[in-house]
Amino acid sequence: MTADLIIHNALVRTMESAAPEAPGFGPASTAVAVTGGQITAVAGDADVLALAGPDTRVIDAGGAALVPGLIDSHMHPIWGIELTRGIDLYGLDLEGIRDALAKEAARLPEDAWVCGWNLDHNAFDGPLRGDLFDDVLGGRPLAVVLYDLHTGLGNPAALAAAGITGRETFDDASLVVVDEQGVPTGELREIPAYLLLLDAVPPIPQDEYIQRLQSLFSTLNGVGITSAVVMDGRDKHLDLLADMEKAGNLTVQLHIAMWHQPGDGDERVAQIISQLGRSGRGWRVQLIKMFLDGVIESGTAWLNEPDTCGTGTHSFWKDLDRYEEVTRRYVEAGYQIATHSVGDAGVGQILEAYKRVGTASAAGAPNRIEHLEVLTDPDISNLAETGVVASMQPLHMQWRAGDGTDAWASRLGPHRSHGGFRVRDVLEAGGRVALGSDWPVAQYDPRLGMAWARLRRTPGNVQAPVFEPEQRLSGYEALLGYTRWAAEALGRGDLGVIKPGATANLVLFAEDPAETDGDALTDLPVLLTVVGGEPVHSALA
Ligand SMILES: [Zn+2]
Repeated sequence: MTADLIIHNALVRTMESAAPEAPGFGPASTAVAVTGGQITAVAGDADVLALAGPDTRVIDAGGAALVPGLIDSHMHPIWGIELTRGIDLYGLDLEGIRDALAKEAARLPEDAWVCGWNLDHNAFDGPLRGDLFDDVLGGRPLAVVLYDLHTGLGNPAALAAAGITGRETFDDASLVVVDEQGVPTGELREIPAYLLLLDAVPPIPQDEYIQRLQSLFSTLNGVGITSAVVMDGRDKHLDLLADMEKAGNLTVQLHIAMWHQPGDGDERVAQIISQLGRSGRGWRVQLIKMFLDGVIESGTAWLNEPDTCGTGTHSFWKDLDRYEEVTRRYVEAGYQIATHSVGDAGVGQILEAYKRVGTASAAGAPNRIEHLEVLTDPDISNLAETGVVASMQPLHMQWRAGDGTDAWASRLGPHRSHGGFRVRDVLEAGGRVALGSDWPVAQYDPRLGMAWARLRRTPGNVQAPVFEPEQRLSGYEALLGYTRWAAEALGRGDLGVIKPGATANLVLFAEDPAETDGDALTDLPVLLTVVGGEPVHSALA
């Protein structure tokens, strides 16, 4: 059979070997053939070009590097459309935020909501307060999500519109923060609390939602992403994807984790179980996402020792037995489990629970833990022993300051903050790692994600502080974290590698991303992205 697509004159990084130094590794293959959405041949130019027929699309890569399509192991692309409404407050201090909000308010109708995202805890000297911006908003309600996606902020007008009084109670550790008089300050800690606010903002119409999601997928294709693990699946998202696929293929393949919240009862568990395996051409429900804790910056991560403010001593769940019970039910039903834990106490508890209920899904996909920003040595041995995946995001170190005065490091204190994001320790112990962005928490660009994993400092700034240099990954390991390791973390042998029979998800970089200097990586051109055999992005001449 002739090929649909041939890419030749390339340096083919199959990502099949453990390291580029391994015997037999080398750019022996220069060409790949694709038929019916699958890779059908990986060999030298002459052998592969012989598969060309009159209708074959033949692309001369001009010596560029062909790698498997990149997989972001932790993302919120669908919910992210809602969360990234309004203005991006990234990197702004309090004055900058005021200016940006004033400009946005002036642009909007009198009764419109002012929305923003990516706000940094470090912008505030003291506690977060929503009324700090009232004088520039002209009476408009304000709804902001902090970059960590665990904290929301509303002004008094917004809280009133949402009916938030400060007397709310939650099934988990979520909190409407109040002052000494019991009046809400505007800070809404954890997702169920800030959803009360976001649910009051007028929804994005479905056609606009789909359009924005399609445009996000195109942008992701442009940086080399072909697959993503969606960490907050809800029924309405599945319906939206089904609707989207009526109009055409998704250009990012989605592996969906359904979101189980601590308050979800048995009826909801049964409903979620009935969604397992629900799929379209480009998406599939296969995981469960749960939060065992929150984030260090707000004191909601669950740590073995309290943080320097005396917080961080609790799980997000009021009843850990219930966490284990639902985990067991999901594992028995065939789901793969992904549990969020930033703190070491949470990680330890999850590993013990997984050991009791099963460390992998029925289909053999390993259970996972998300984030693991603080780990003890026993946690690391346990990860290696159980094969549980450490799904980590080294680029989340971008909010750290060299002198340890940032919210993350000052909460942890010097002893623990110097043991953060122990990616290499997990690998050295024989554990499994997958890398991701957690967009919109951090930037989705995997080149930036790989650069942070390699440099552990701001790429492009050699003067920037390096955080725990002994934890740096090699260029090849960083690429594995976004390809084969990420695929293995999903139990998928047909993704993240270039071999006959694999899904034809491919990315052509101008140069080898494993060899490109870490500081130059973020500017490395992405020449071509192929999803399921179809070119979805091209910057080829
Ligand atoms: Zn996340």
